Formats: sequence, structure tokens, C-alpha cells
Amino acid sequence: MAGLEKVLEIYEQIWALNYALALIGWDSETYMPEGSAKERGEVTSVLETMKQRLYISQNLLSALEELEESAESDVEKGIVRVLRRTIKYYTAIPADLVKKEEKVVNEAKIAWRRAKKEANFSLFAPYLEEIVEINRKKAEYLGYEDHPYDALLDLYEEGATTRELESFFDSLIPPLERELKRILSSGWPQDHPLEEAPYREMDMETLNREILNLLGFDWGLMRIDRSAHPFTEGIGLYDVRITTWYHGKDFRRSLLATIHEFGHALYERQCDPKFWKTPVCGGVSLGIHESQSRFWENIIARSRAFASFLSPIVKHHLGIEASPDDLFYYFNLVRPSLLRVEADEVTYNFHIALRFEIEKGLIDGSIEVKELPSLWNQRMEEYLGVVPPDDSLGVLQDIHWSLGAMGYFPTYSIGTVVAAQIKEKMEKDLDLENLIEKGEFGPIREWLRERIHRWGAIYPPKELLRRSLGGGPDPEAFLNYVRGKYKW
Ligand code: MG
Repeated sequence: MAGLEKVLEIYEQIWALNYALALIGWDSETYMPEGSAKERGEVTSVLETMKQRLYISQNLLSALEELEESAESDVEKGIVRVLRRTIKYYTAIPADLVKKEEKVVNEAKIAWRRAKKEANFSLFAPYLEEIVEINRKKAEYLGYEDHPYDALLDLYEEGATTRELESFFDSLIPPLERELKRILSSGWPQDHPLEEAPYREMDMETLNREILNLLGFDWGLMRIDRSAHPFTEGIGLYDVRITTWYHGKDFRRSLLATIHEFGHALYERQCDPKFWKTPVCGGVSLGIHESQSRFWENIIARSRAFASFLSPIVKHHLGIEASPDDLFYYFNLVRPSLLRVEADEVTYNFHIALRFEIEKGLIDGSIEVKELPSLWNQRMEEYLGVVPPDDSLGVLQDIHWSLGAMGYFPTYSIGTVVAAQIKEKMEKDLDLENLIEKGEFGPIREWLRERIHRWGAIYPPKELLRRSLGGGPDPEAFLNYVRGKYKW
């Protein structure tokens, strides 16, 4: 049997386990009865172990070696690359560190929730110390050339390095600070009465469904539910699910979350079906994934053209009279604020730059956990001129560290910037504004499919960007977008 067939025959079992784990993960966040978490945790842990065993099995390793020698096509090379990455992770990290991480994270999640509720960082600090320590060890086991943080970044964004991201943020942040000052002093709206407009959840749900219909949501293979925080789960190529949230007012939050997750879902759905049941089916990295969600959220849904398209739909479903101008400003308020998840597209990247600096410092030892609250508040004041009144609105706001994840945050800025690059490129081929205004999203989906989605994970993210957009992530594209959009 040829190397590829052998590899895929073994991978089929991993694929099936991934499918089951994804479905279980989705259910845990949506419909699972509250009291079932413990049993569910044990099931997940058994399935994860089965998966890990398959990855490091001699069968797969020998088949992979055979394939490596004969691999000629980009698809075969991609399959080898993706499998090698996962196998490296499972073999490099010793089992006792994995066990320790599981234990610490289980306790840290609870401590973080309590610390956040009581706005008391010291309750979480000892766990964060351990999480930093575990991540440092991980970096040593995984290996790196330049900076230990590189090893962690690579887990979320293949090939990303500290040095590259330093230069990325150096080109992005200072000019963006100037833009923010300019926008704020120009009298650009910072708030809007529509933030307070109430809606009935039933109506909002109908509105979300209608918008998804118009964007091209495939109801036969996709569904939408609700969860505490919106997310997308690509269970399989033929089962992609999103969630959204409802707050009873400020309909922008529910709608933009729905559209954001649609972007993630479309990326999963539009992968070349030839890659089905292979390791290269689905998105290549978190940064590229986020570029797809941000493209639909920021570039499409926050555009003037979309405001025109949306105005009658909002009136019809919510009974809210809002002119295209109203909607445009309401969707594009620029307001320095404390919480990353509520930040607008101009201030958003400052929140990420801050987290990047902190994670890098924690990992290389130049920042200590105990300094975090004061360092956080000081940097927030420098970047955005706002100071958290307490730690729950400051250093404790994000769940990521409590889950053990360090190196994840920069992918949000990569995605935001790449979305602006996509706009630049797409406008060379399509009359984007006109299509959006008329609600013709087919050509936009097709462009994304052809350039980005269909390739799955066969190319590493940087290579995909080079092929589809000529390079990147390119902060200049985002800065140009901001300069063009936020002027009266
Ligand atoms: Mg996202």
C-alpha cells in the first residue's frame, strides 16, 4: 500500500475521535445538563488519550516515514507537515507535565472565576505562577531558536516568532495611537442611543437567522444555537455549528457575534472536499481563522454599504427605525474601554499589544506575576487613557491564562490585520461596496473559497498568505483601512 493510503487509514480513527470530541465539546457549551460536567470530563480524557496513542503509534510513524520519502504533491507534503507538528507536541511534552497541567488548569479555572468575581488578583496569582512555569517548561521541551515564547506562539500560529510579532506591533501600534488621537479629537461618535434600544430575543433570533440566510448559511449542514460566549465548532466538513448570545438590548452585539462566527464557519465549510478525513481539512491556524471571522464582522458588517442593506431588515424584525447613517455610526463607535471583548476595531489591537508584552515578559522572566495588576493598569492608561477600577475589569478579564493558554492572544491581531488585507485585494477583483449593498454575497464567498478556504491546511499560514494575498500580516493595510474609514 502506498504511504498516503496507509497514513490515511490510520488517520481515519483519529478523524473519528476528533469528530466525537468536537461534538462533545459543542454539547458541553450548549445543551449538556449542568451536573454532567464531571462524567463528561472523564469521557473526554479517555478519548483524548486514545487519540494521543494513535498519534504516537509505531504504525502511524512508519507509514508517515514512508509517505515522507515519496511525498510529491503539496497535499501530501501538507499532510506530513501537519501530522509531524501534532506528533512532535505529543512526544516532546512528558506525560507528567501534561498531567500536572491538567490538574493545575482544573484548579486555576475555579480560582480565576472566584478571583474575577471578587476582583481579587491574589486569589488567582499562585495558579498563574504555576501556569507560567508549566508554559516555560513546555517551551523548553518543544524547543525554539531565539525566544522561549516562540515555541508557544507556534502552537497557535504556526511559524510565528516573538521577533516578527515585535516588529508587527512596532509598525502597528505607534501609528494607530496617532490615528486614535485624531479620531477621538475629531468628534467621531463614542456612544449611540441604539446601545440602549431593547429587543425581544425571539425577534433577534429571527433577525440573526435572516441575516445568515442572506450571507449564505447552509442550513442543511450548519446550525446556530446560543452559549455563554459565542463560538464555532467545525465538527466535520458536513457539520459546522455556531453559537451567538442575546442581551435583551444593544442588538449590534448579538448580530456582530453571529456574523463573526459565520466567518469562522464558512472557512471550515468551504475546504476542498477532497481533503475530507485528512489532517489538512479545515483552517490552518487561529490567526487565519480569525481573519475570516473579522472579515465578515469588520469589513462587511461594519461597512456603510451593509448599514444601508441592514436598515430595512432591522426595522422589519426589531421594529427599530434606524437610518443607514445611524447604523453605521452605532456599529463603528470608537471608545477606549476596559474590556477586550467589547473593544471597537480601532482600540482592539491595543488590548492585544498589552497582552503580547505581558506574556512575552512572563515567559522570559522579565515580568513577574505579582507585578501584573499594576503593570496592566499602567499600560492601559498609556495606551487608551483608561484605568480599570479593579482587577476583574483589568488583568482578570480574560479566561485564556486560566486555561493554560499563553501565546494565543496575538492571533487576534493577526486576524484583524489580515482581514484588512483581504479587503484591499478583494476590491481589485470585486465591486465590494455594490455587492454588499445589494446583499449579493455569493461572489465574496467564492473569492474567499478560491483564495483561502479551499486550501485547508496544506500550506503553513505564512505560505498561504503569500500565495493568496502576496504576503502579510501587513499592518499597513489595516492602518490604511482605519485612515480611510474613520473620517467625517
Ligand atoms: Mg473568533
